Amino acid sequence: MLRTIERRPAIRTLHGWAISVLEEAGAIRECEEHGWMQDRADPHARERAFDIARQDPPAGVSAQAAAAAITEVLDSIGDTCPECPAK
Ligand SMILES: [Zn+2]
Repeated sequence: MLRTIERRPAIRTLHGWAISVLEEAGAIRECEEHGWMQDRADPHARERAFDIARQDPPAGVSAQAAAAAITEVLDSIGDTCPECPAK
């Protein structure tokens, strides 16, 4: 089930857009204490993010470029917060 992503005019970069889509889909979350993005390693959430990217890319960006930006952000985000104590 896809939700409609609100347009966020404040986001100017494709990278920032990709992060917001991944957050919206639940594929990543922000550490409440330190603000680092963490990969939740949820394949369904990732799939949702890619669906959103392909179906609703930002203005002037191709579906392919939008999906590539999602991949890039996922590659750059670890699954733990670097500042949280290891459990
Ligand atoms: Zn943290």
